This record gives sequence, structure tokens and C-alpha cells, in this order.
Amino acid sequence: RHAAFRTDLSVLLDQVGTGKESLSFMKRRIRRLTQQWATAANRLDAKLEQRWRDQKKILVHVGFLTEESGDVFSPKVLKGGPLGEMVQWADILTALHVLGHNLKISMSVKELQGFLGVPPGRGSCPLTGPLPFDLIYTDYHGLQQMKQNMGLSLRRHKCHIRVIDTFGTEPAYNHEEYATLHGYRTNWGYWNLNARQYMTMFPHTPDNSFMGFVSEELNETEKRSIQQNKVNNMAVVYGKEASMWKLQGKEGFLQILHKYMEVHGTVYYETQRPPEVPAFVKNHGLLPQHELQQLLRKAKLFIGFGFPYEGPAPLEAIANGCIFLQPKFHPPHSSLNHEFFRGKPTSREVFSQHPYAEQYIGRPHVMTVDYNNSLEFDSVIREIMRTEVQPYLPYEYTCEGMLERVHAYIQHQDFCATEPPFIPANLSRQGSAGGSRLTGPLFVPLPNTTALGWASNMTAPAAWPPLSSLRLLVSQEGQSCVEACQSAGFICEPAHFRFINNKEALHGLEVQCEVVDSEMNHILPAFSVVRRECGLQREPLLFSCAGHSAKYRRLCPCRDFRRGQAALCRDCL
Ligand code: UDP
Repeated sequence: RHAAFRTDLSVLLDQVGTGKESLSFMKRRIRRLTQQWATAANRLDAKLEQRWRDQKKILVHVGFLTEESGDVFSPKVLKGGPLGEMVQWADILTALHVLGHNLKISMSVKELQGFLGVPPGRGSCPLTGPLPFDLIYTDYHGLQQMKQNMGLSLRRHKCHIRVIDTFGTEPAYNHEEYATLHGYRTNWGYWNLNARQYMTMFPHTPDNSFMGFVSEELNETEKRSIQQNKVNNMAVVYGKEASMWKLQGKEGFLQILHKYMEVHGTVYYETQRPPEVPAFVKNHGLLPQHELQQLLRKAKLFIGFGFPYEGPAPLEAIANGCIFLQPKFHPPHSSLNHEFFRGKPTSREVFSQHPYAEQYIGRPHVMTVDYNNSLEFDSVIREIMRTEVQPYLPYEYTCEGMLERVHAYIQHQDFCATEPPFIPANLSRQGSAGGSRLTGPLFVPLPNTTALGWASNMTAPAAWPPLSSLRLLVSQEGQSCVEACQSAGFICEPAHFRFINNKEALHGLEVQCEVVDSEMNHILPAFSVVRRECGLQREPLLFSCAGHSAKYRRLCPCRDFRRGQAALCRDCL
């Protein structure tokens, strides 16, 4: 069946259910954004020009909101607890519904059992028949619950699963045996999924798929009225829980801010003003989302204190015409040195409170400075007060952008099909990748399949992203493929590793190999210039954009991307 776009959200609202603050929050959000989703659906419908889209049977099992996982989130919705996850789940549910799929929603283990057709209350009971869904969206908690209820049959069906995973899971942590042997074992990883089955809140490592969420969009009239009503000396502090205001000897910068601006906060409190919030701050208490938007429309500055990391609020602030000011982290925060990231299945280094805002948006909307340097801080506040900015929202965080991306994933990502073995013939050399170039960055464009050795009479495997988007690049020593591709204006594409993991690719680059080994190591394929050693990857699950090693230069499969939609290559739609 064809999946027809839906603009009426009433069925979805009924499906979400009642009885918890988290569900009420999600429903308020879905209702508030109804018109925006409808407009986006109509636009994407026109853009796709009647293209056939398969209607999928989809189960969404929200593990972290089940009683069985302890549901620590729901009771804190009105008390300053984290809301980012609920924002994202509300938007995922809406996107799937609007795209016209056949949706079932489960928020308890009992509902999960019912939808999967496993008998309740008997512990681990294997699902014998076929899986009654094409796709299952869940999270790490839900995955664990599915394992407990599906037993061994989970292994058979796991290619249908997508794991919503805020901070991401790198391949080295996901591969059970490798993680155990090499110290990458955490509480979360080791599921042996294809790393692209993990879907993140921001485009962290391209090893995972970027799911995202949406932010409110303004029409031209609203933009104009915002410009007129901005209060140049009004700042709102990012942080709805009092503990985020523990400034640990950094009161200085708040004093400087207060010297120039009126400081507002939206910190939750019960009866008394939280002692962490200085008396000069005008605290509104935790606001409903639409009232926060109104406050942001007036404010000139939205300022972060370093926590929470990577939430939705800065994007909302920027979309409402604020400048976002945030601290630079030096040294960067990561699972090695910071409690919050400890045990998370990623080695990602976070260089500021909101790396996406810093890297993908940047000045003038985002200013990232060292808060310990009071001169720098003082001058940036004054700069912000005289800088005019337009409200800005990257396309990938608009409803249309999210619908476009989720549509592309649903129609093209297939982790169940066994990929046809890739047997390259002679890889013809492109460009002038002479041996001497091994000192500088190598860049070898591979414009068509023949360049990779596909004889014209062979049919190339149906790859997505299409093979035409592949650009082979060699990293510097110590550089990851994420960085190597980025520095050349591309993005690392893990799906393309299988095309470059061969002797012919090394040969085409004129790499001098005395030995070519095939090993399980997440930095492979790579080579050592000094030792003239080359290594190919033996385990496809370990193909990783994220890894790096000081001794090796990596072969990196890069691809082009659409402006404002990093998840998709030019020919990916
Ligand atoms: N938010 C809200 N009222 C407030 C402050 C924040 O509704 O007073 C919402 C905000 O609109 C955003 C969500 O909380 O969508 C999550 O924001 P944040 O960036 O703080 O991320 P979190 O740490 O909660 O995941």
C-alpha cells in the first residue's frame, strides 16, 4: 500500500494515551505544532511528486517511559527534569504518522507483548512466527525488554529495529566481542547492531543515523514582529533545574552579565526561590513550552552555563532570534573525564555545551567563549547587545526537513538484506595519487562504479546512499574519518566502507604495502606509512567513521551532502 501523507493528528493524539505528565507534555506539543506539520507535509508531498512510498507497519515502543524501566522521567516533567527525550519522541511519533505509516504505540511491556504476539507473563518466550512489523523504533530500555520477551528470536528480527539513542553509540562499543576484548564495554553497547540502526538527537558521528527533532518555525510576519519587539538588554539563562546554576566559583561571569543586562530564568521551584539563583535574576519558574517561546521572542541573549549538554532549547532560542552564548570546554568533556558521559558508548569529545550549535550554526547566532576569561566574556556581551540577528532554524530541524529525512530512511535503509559481496576488479587510478602525495592529504574522487572496478557488464549492488556520492580520502595520522571528510567539505559515510575495504583501493592510492593483513580493528582499513603495513577490516560491524590512531592513516569513504540536511547526499532522495 502507498503511504499517503496525513495532516489530521487526532488519531495519533488518541493513540498516545493518558495518565502521565510525560504523555500530556507530548500531546500538548503535538497539538501546538499541528499546523506546522501539516504545511510541511504538503510541501514535501509536492516535492516528492507523487513518488511511490511503501506504507510500513511500525511499532514504536518507548522503553524509558514504561513502568518496568522505572520511568524516572514522567514525575519530573513539571519539576525541571529532562524534556529533550520527550520532545524527540513526540516528534518521531508525529513524523511517522504524518508520513502515512501504519503505527502502533506501546508504553508498557504488556502492550509490547500484545503487539508482538508473545504470551504474557511467561518470561522469555520466543516469537515463533514472522515479526508482525516492518520496523520497530525503541530505545536501549526497550531493547532490553524485547530481549527478555522475545528470547532468541530477537536475533532473527533485530535488523528491523531502530534504537533512539540521544548521544550515540560508536561501532567499537556496539560489537560485543571487540568491546569486551578492548575495553569498550559499557552498560549500553554490545548489541551487535549495524551502527546506523542507532538514531541520534544531533548529527554526532555519521556512524549512527541522525534522527533529530523539530523546532518551531516563524513566518515572515512573526519574524518582523520579533525584530521590532526585541529587548536588547534582556538575557534568559539556559537551565530549568536549580542544580544547573551551581556556579562553582564562576559567579564572576553572571555579575558581568548583570552589569549590562536584565537576567531572566525559568528555574523550577516549589515554594521558595532556589538558593542557587541569585537575587537579581527574574525567575519565571518552569514555563510551559509555548510561554518559554514567548519569553525567547523578547530576549536578545540565551546563555548556557555548561549543562545540560546538547538539548533542544538553544535551537528554539536561535529560531526565536536570540543569540546563544555558551562556554568552550578546555579540555573537552568526554566519557573519560566527565561523570555525565561516563559509561556512554561513545568516545566523542565535546568541545562546548552544544557542539551542533557551534559547528553547524556558529556566528553570529552562536558565540562560544572561555567563561574564565572575564575580559573576553565582557566584550562578547557588549558585542551581542549591538549585533542584529535574524531568527534562524537549520532546514534539518524544520518539520519538512525531519519528514524528508525520516522518509528517506524508511524507504532506503535496509539492514535485513544481506549485502552482495563486493568484488572489485582493477581499481583504476583517479587523479594523480602518486606515491609522493602520501605526505599530504590524498583525495581521490570516484565518480562512477567503473572506477571501483565494476566492469560495465556487471550490475552494481543497489547501494544507498548511491555509490555516485562516494569520495575516497585518506586521513592524516591520528585523524578520524569524521574529521578527514569534514575538512574536505564532505561527510563520512559508513555505508561506503565496504567499497573501499580492499587491496584495489590501496593499490589505486599507490600505498606501499609490504603486508596486507585483514583484522578486527575499528580503525581499519588503514595503513602505516613508516612500517609499510596495510590493514583491511574483517568485521563489517566495526566499520567506523569515529576511530583514530596516531600510527595509522585511514581510508575514509566520504560523501557529499545536501545543504541543511547533512544526513542525505545530493542523490539520496
Ligand atoms: N522547556 C520548557 N519550559 C522551560 C524550559 C524549557 O518547556 O521553562 C522545554 C524547552 O522548550 C525544550 C525542552 O524543555 O524543548 C528541553 O530543553 P533542554 O534543552 O533544557 O533539554 P533537556 O535537558 O531538558 O533534555
